[in-house]
Amino acid sequence: MADYSPSEDAPPAIGAFDNSYARLPSAFYVRIAPTKVAAPKLIKFNYALADELGLCPPHGHLAAIFAGNLIPSGAAPLAMAYAGHQFGGFSPQLGDGRAILLGEVIDKSGTRRDVQLKGSGPTPFSRRGDGRAALGPVLREYLISEAMHALGIPATRALAAVATGEQVRREGMLPGAVFTRVAASHVRVGTFQYFAARGDVASLKILADYVIDRHYPETRDAERPYLALLQAVSAAQAKLIAQWLHVGFIHGVMNTDNMAISGQTIDFGPCAFMDTYDPATVYSAIDEYGRYAYANQPRIANWNLARLAETLLPLIDEDTDKAIALATEVIEGFQTQYAARWVEGARAKLGLATVEDGDEALMNDLLVAMHKNQADFTNTFHNLGGDARSQFINPTEFDQWAIAYRARLSRDTLSPAERSAKMRQANPAYIPRNHRVEQALNAAIQRDDFTLFEELLTVLANPFDDQPDYARYSAPPEPSERVQNTFCGT
Ligand code: AMP
Ligand code: MG
Repeated sequence: MADYSPSEDAPPAIGAFDNSYARLPSAFYVRIAPTKVAAPKLIKFNYALADELGLCPPHGHLAAIFAGNLIPSGAAPLAMAYAGHQFGGFSPQLGDGRAILLGEVIDKSGTRRDVQLKGSGPTPFSRRGDGRAALGPVLREYLISEAMHALGIPATRALAAVATGEQVRREGMLPGAVFTRVAASHVRVGTFQYFAARGDVASLKILADYVIDRHYPETRDAERPYLALLQAVSAAQAKLIAQWLHVGFIHGVMNTDNMAISGQTIDFGPCAFMDTYDPATVYSAIDEYGRYAYANQPRIANWNLARLAETLLPLIDEDTDKAIALATEVIEGFQTQYAARWVEGARAKLGLATVEDGDEALMNDLLVAMHKNQADFTNTFHNLGGDARSQFINPTEFDQWAIAYRARLSRDTLSPAERSAKMRQANPAYIPRNHRVEQALNAAIQRDDFTLFEELLTVLANPFDDQPDYARYSAPPEPSERVQNTFCGT
């Protein structure tokens, strides 16, 4: 941390901003500063991430900067415009109602990253919302986005959490907080929909070119760059959703405004990991019909991509019929692409280096038996080379499956040591189990005690390592600890 002695009103320097989004036309955003909060107090700062970003905020000003009370020099605060389908219904204008993009920095690997405050006060997109965030959801996003990253799954990152010293009104009054997240970008499927809904093809083209430059430069030289862009976004989502399913992650609100064009997991609301394997699992209290249930996620991603495709049609070809035919081919190809990524992930989980046609069925047979026997998803896979059978109500049903599994292993090329190393990297010991997340959040909210939050962050930073001191974090919940519902808390 640099030493910093501020003159009265000079903005602090935290690093080199280069704000490409703020250079786009004014239709893309509204320039707006965060609203100051009463008493900022730093809860958590991610020093390792700050270092990766080349940020060096002055020590004494962390709380003020990441509460939005002090705007660092070079920042160009703005709220992004976007639209979106929420639970299937279209809203032509959503936008950052409680988030403000401070700006962009180029990280040490040369990648452009957004730094955004969430819960930093109202914007012209707030509608009836207060522009604020409660402490619980802020800590939840901090924990889960960092856990996803440690699991090797593309996700936005947590840079800071700051308590505001103010209360927010939700079901009752709750302590408020501001979250700082870092993303490859905050462009969403809904950003494209915003301009498409207005028939603004010129802006759509500017957005598409921006996204190509920032995320998918290899598509620029394709014969049809915008079709290639759709294909690239589709491929990134196929990979991402397969990764979600292989750790038991349920996003909970896969609205088109919550799907990032970059292929990162974004907008951690009522998201949760399942304990007992059940493909119909839904946690989100607002997902009445299970639209975003665990096993529906690939279908929903495909549906969202179809909405993206619709916005790109005028850029794909002047001849609408031709554009539709080309885009449809990409959208229909998603399922095949997803299935390929899923079976690759399944082979890694099973410890297979070779490819056989029966691998998909082998994995599915295990999952069916796990469902029937209420097996814990994480612990069954983590112990596949050991005592997985004890996860089953009727262990002999595991034994039956294991006959086929052993036969398959005997035809594979990996040595036992190689296999066990491969499986270790695909089958985590630790996930952010709901009851543990809930316990950590409750201690912070009710007792201002962040010990459990810190401990959980520590465990989840190395999810593939057996950590004997923290073995309790791998245990599924007792019946009394089971969490049935999660809430957005917005
Ligand atoms: P979400 O469900 O969090 O993805 O948000 C959907 C939309 O509601 C976005 O436009 C958000 O900016 C907006 N929103 C959510 N919570 C608030 C809030 N407390 N104040 C203002 N806008 C909000
Ligand atoms: Mg959202």
